[in-house]
Amino acid sequence: MATVLVVDDSSFMRMRCVSTVKELGYDTVEAGDGAEAIQTYKDQKPAAVLMDITMPGTDGLQALKEIMAFDGNARVAMVTAMGQQSMVMEAMKSGAKDFVVKPFEPDRVKAALTKLLA
Ligand SMILES: [Mg+2]
Repeated sequence: MATVLVVDDSSFMRMRCVSTVKELGYDTVEAGDGAEAIQTYKDQKPAAVLMDITMPGTDGLQALKEIMAFDGNARVAMVTAMGQQSMVMEAMKSGAKDFVVKPFEPDRVKAALTKLLA
C-alpha cells in the first residue's frame, strides 16, 4: 500500500488528515514543519505528500520547492486555508499537482490522492 506523507504544523489538523488518509487505505508518515517534511521525504520516499502551506520556519512552499529539487517526480498536493490563492498559484507553478482547501471533506482528499497516484 502506498505511503502518504502528511505535513501540518497543527497537530489537530495533522491528526485529522492522517485519519482520513488511513481510512482511505493508505499508510502514513507525518511531519510537523517544512524542514521535517523535506527530511522525511528524503528518508522515506513516500508515494504522495499532503502539505500544509502556512507553517513556522520552513513553510509549505519552501518545502515543496526543496522536495521538487530533490525529486522532480514528487507527487505533492497543498493543503490550504481559504484566501491563499496567490500561494496556491505559486505552489502549482512550483510543481504541486493539486490543492485541498481546509476544512476538507474526506472525498476531496480521496480525489487528490487518486489524482496524485494515477
Ligand atoms: Mg499551518
